[in-house]
Amino acid sequence: MTMMNACVLEEWNGSLSIDSVPEPEPGPGEVRVDVRACGVTRTIENAIRGGLADDPDLTPRIPGHEFAGVVDAVGDGVDGVSPGDRVLAYFYLTCGNCDACRRGDTNQCTNFGGWYGVNCDGAYADQAVIPASNALPLPDGASFREGAIATDGLATPLHVCRRTDVSDADTVLVIGAAGRIGIHLSQLAALRGARVLAAEIDDDRLEHVDAVTSDAVQPIDARGEDVADRLREATGGDGPTVVVDTVGDTATLEDAWNALAMGGQIVTLTTHHERSFAPPLKEFVVKEASIVGSRHATKEEVVRAARLLADGRIDPIVTDSVGLEDVPDVHDRIRNGESHGMAVLEP
Ligand SMILES: [Zn+2]
Repeated sequence: MTMMNACVLEEWNGSLSIDSVPEPEPGPGEVRVDVRACGVTRTIENAIRGGLADDPDLTPRIPGHEFAGVVDAVGDGVDGVSPGDRVLAYFYLTCGNCDACRRGDTNQCTNFGGWYGVNCDGAYADQAVIPASNALPLPDGASFREGAIATDGLATPLHVCRRTDVSDADTVLVIGAAGRIGIHLSQLAALRGARVLAAEIDDDRLEHVDAVTSDAVQPIDARGEDVADRLREATGGDGPTVVVDTVGDTATLEDAWNALAMGGQIVTLTTHHERSFAPPLKEFVVKEASIVGSRHATKEEVVRAARLLADGRIDPIVTDSVGLEDVPDVHDRIRNGESHGMAVLEP
């Protein structure tokens, strides 16, 4: 039996360890991918904590779902994907047959099977087996690192911008702008012509945002008193037209609601449990405001995200490149709130 290295989670909310495990074989309709880059992110930390599923029967588990690599072997009945193909992975296990899948809204699949890295093994390993339909073509010119970022870090912002139709008429407030979703969303909104207010609550993060974005992105300190007033002031008085909350901090969200422009939209996309936000209904009417939920991205958006990175229209923001043996430490730092930006596992 051929063995490989993997980062294994023994139980939900448990610790990660580096083990030698049997190399997985692709079954019918599956492909095995040689992992070249995998994001080590807060989304995966949430999954490790049991935030996506916590059935004990699903462990031990190899986490990791934001990755790109090279197809190494294919199972029976696979066509359209061959060994040697460069691919990036779509991390929702979708059915391909429901109405949502057939119209291309794969993020809305009604026979949703979960996520690899949660319901089956993921990419914190030398190799990962995924359904062939989840192995999307990595565009020429996109690096594996860019592919890994595209799968979620940029595809999710693309979906947000499509849901809200962000344009040059907008001022977009990004809450949690230094995180991987926030930093790529800030760039994308600017690319679409919007003015961007990049909100953070930490000096290092504010400096980081300033250093890696263009002049269209204005860092804004969301700490302290009168945040709503300052937000409105920064827009020239009317307030942001689109607010995107990547953090799930309800205090910041309330400030953003109070600053929101007439006709404005608030987008929520975190999956953190037990947080709610409920402004009085009358205020929705008076402001003609909308709250928009945004769930990951479609397969088409994942490929489009990789193309934006390959073309150099969006900069991939990576703060650390790490090896498999470093992954448990990176998760410790994420859990302790000591990590900002994005680490990528590059075995
Ligand atoms: Zn489906």
